[in-house]
Amino acid sequence: MQQRLHAIRHRHLFRQLSPLSHGSTPWISVDGHKLLNLSSNNYLGFADHPHLKQAASAAIEQYGCGTGSSRLIAGSTFLHQQLEARLAAFKGHEQALLFTSGYQANVGIIAALAGPRDIILSDELNHASLIDGCRLSGAQSRTYAHCSLIALQQQLEECSTSGQRGLTFVVTDSVFSMDGDLAPLAEIAALCERYQAFLIVDEAHASGCLGPAGRGLVAQLPQSAHENILTISTLSKAFGSIGAFMSGTTLMKDFLINVARPFIFTTSLPPADLAASLAALDLLEEDPDLPGRLQQKAAFFRTSLQQLGFDTLASATHIIPLLIGDAERTMHMAAHLREEGLYAVAIRPPTVPMGASRLRFSLMASHTDEDLFFALDIIKKVGSQMGLV
Ligand SMILES: *Cc1c(COP(=O)(O)O)cnc(C)c1O
Repeated sequence: MQQRLHAIRHRHLFRQLSPLSHGSTPWISVDGHKLLNLSSNNYLGFADHPHLKQAASAAIEQYGCGTGSSRLIAGSTFLHQQLEARLAAFKGHEQALLFTSGYQANVGIIAALAGPRDIILSDELNHASLIDGCRLSGAQSRTYAHCSLIALQQQLEECSTSGQRGLTFVVTDSVFSMDGDLAPLAEIAALCERYQAFLIVDEAHASGCLGPAGRGLVAQLPQSAHENILTISTLSKAFGSIGAFMSGTTLMKDFLINVARPFIFTTSLPPADLAASLAALDLLEEDPDLPGRLQQKAAFFRTSLQQLGFDTLASATHIIPLLIGDAERTMHMAAHLREEGLYAVAIRPPTVPMGASRLRFSLMASHTDEDLFFALDIIKKVGSQMGLV
């Protein structure tokens, strides 16, 4: 342990936990200092919304704190059923199936579907939980260049002519978690149809934030494409609590209930979180323009950073990287920003590739215009002090 930690420290990659007063509010306090929080995935500001808090408290009063067992034993309640029906309707899919976290959903679903005879083609910037699912499945997994349709097509072509007998899967995030850019989903879905590959899409950062009324990016595809797409979304980001769900066909749901081990062998989501997610759906339905307002704020913030001369990569969403490259300099910048009142965490390898260290800003609908001006002023000042712009 000591040797490995020493090596990690030496490369400026040592990580530590720092306890915050709140994680999810626009302003947080750390050691008595007020900081503007640009690192939370609480994109819609729902995590501390009065409607969610009230719904969660009421559910605890009525049903208690835990369910006491897995879904297939005694832990499947009317609340689970009700939330699944609402989520399926929200996504425009036949069915939804809850998981206890996005990580578990991704690992469990991929390992349930794919096996040693199969091939999985995976975007090189996919989330770690998708990668772990590919590993656990025992399938042959191959990465393709980030968002490259040419590379993907080439690999699909190889699979179809190599005489392999198994199935082919394509796995991608719809919004990439550290770059904030979008997968070309319509084109990927068309390629999958042409080569008879099954498509798995992770909408962790899109559900609640993008697409029609926040329904995500798969919802923009023609209905005919949906038969062969399995969508995974989290309830831990825009939805403000915890948990995840797959949405798709009845066949997919029946299959996963019977085969996905992280569904079968874990305790089901507790009442408070189910009620919070139902309340989040209410809020989204009452205010379908909220995701659009988040994107407007993000566009303003991103354009302003670009005008200052910063590199925001191909971000097109509320996730906005500021590329620095070197891990040590990225840590320096994060520390300076923090001294000035801005909480923006440095993202380093292995979360991002070597030489691609960055700050990752994530905007929330609850950030005010003043908050964003405050942040831009500080970023400009620190960036020019460090000679970045
Ligand atoms: C956060 C995230 C997950 C994991 O979701 P949790 O609910 O936090 O376990 C999965 N996929 C992507 C793309 C994510 O960003």
